[in-house]
Amino acid sequence: MVFIPNTFGLTIQADRLISWPAQAGQFNAKQNYLVVGSGSNLLFTDTHFNGQIIQVDNQTFNIRETDTHYEVTLGAGLNWHQTVKRLVEAGVNGLENLALIPGTVGAAPIQNIGAYGVEFSQVCDSVTGFDIKSGNIKQLSATECKFAYRESIFKHALKDTFIITEVILKLPKNWQANIQYGPLKSLNNPTAGEVFERVCQIRQEKLPDPVKLGNAGSFFKNPVISQAEFERLKVQDTQLPHYPQDDGSIKLAAGYLIDKAGLKGLRYRQAEVHQQQALVLVNLGEAIADDMIQLAAHVRQKVYDKYQVRLTPEVRFIGANGEVDAESLLEQHASTGLSRNS
Ligand SMILES: Cc1cc2nc3c(=O)[nH]c(=O)nc-3n(C[C@H](O)[C@H](O)[C@H](O)COP(=O)(O)OP(=O)(O)OC[C@H]3O[C@@H](n4cnc5c(N)ncnc54)[C@H](O)[C@@H]3O)c2cc1C
Repeated sequence: MVFIPNTFGLTIQADRLISWPAQAGQFNAKQNYLVVGSGSNLLFTDTHFNGQIIQVDNQTFNIRETDTHYEVTLGAGLNWHQTVKRLVEAGVNGLENLALIPGTVGAAPIQNIGAYGVEFSQVCDSVTGFDIKSGNIKQLSATECKFAYRESIFKHALKDTFIITEVILKLPKNWQANIQYGPLKSLNNPTAGEVFERVCQIRQEKLPDPVKLGNAGSFFKNPVISQAEFERLKVQDTQLPHYPQDDGSIKLAAGYLIDKAGLKGLRYRQAEVHQQQALVLVNLGEAIADDMIQLAAHVRQKVYDKYQVRLTPEVRFIGANGEVDAESLLEQHASTGLSRNS
């Protein structure tokens, strides 16, 4: 038995841990398996995973220079934040807005991590991995990865069948700071190091540290709705923050909706809607998966009751035998009867 790392701080066991590629020979594709980085985007709904946990240990860190770009090859086992820091310190800029996102390099393409106006897709050149179905190593171009907001091919056509071992990033030498996002706007002609420091500072002020208070960052995605739906909601809430998208749809801030539904600080057993950041659900110390699920289901239902907008979890739910449909599970648990001191 082994323990599975997860930033919710839940105690979860699995049958076996396989370090990839060192122990690849022990992998049995006919049995259940799950690739795990740091478990910072996972909610385990059971206390046990019946199968093998694969952890990629590739620590490659290589910078190649062309006239116009830096081409950076990174092993999937590297820690994301330490890698961003190392690159900024080496004068290779472009990832500074993505500082302090927990997790590994190998997980970054899965949900196309993003923060402060930058997404992984903007710097990705290609993703390499082991295709379990064919048994071959494959390299996918950024276009083939089909990146979108918190989306990629690895959540769809290649879901659970592709072990990412390496990514190649392409970062232009004529770097320009991306300070469009509100709290970064006050920076005046900053260096990448200054953007990095400010992002770290804001995140430390705003987000609970999973080491102290178990969580997986944003529990829900920001909902994207149609213009017509937005027109309806605008009448109901004139202050509603909204972000028009290129395709005419409108992105809303899930944290705002949760806050306005009066849920900030709501506690259910050992789970809580974070006091400062309503989009984050935290483990107060002794939570079990059911506490997190019941609270999330309640939050989702209350937001729907107020705004008729269905929140979709950003966190992935993993059951005893593999991923479970998070939306269906929350739908089943939807209740309105939680009390603040349950
Ligand atoms: C405090 C906090 C803040 C956060 N802030 C942000 C944020 O600002 N923006 C953001 O986008 N995310 C954020 N997250 C979510 C999380 O950090 C990212 O999703 C991160 O990429 C997950 O990395 P991980 O290594 O922990 O992956 P895990 O949680 O272990 O896995 C996530 C998914 O990726 C798959 N996976 C992992 N590694 C591989 C691999 N090598 N090959 C194939 N599949 C793999 C897993 O099977 C799983 O489906 C935050 C989380 C926390 C706890």
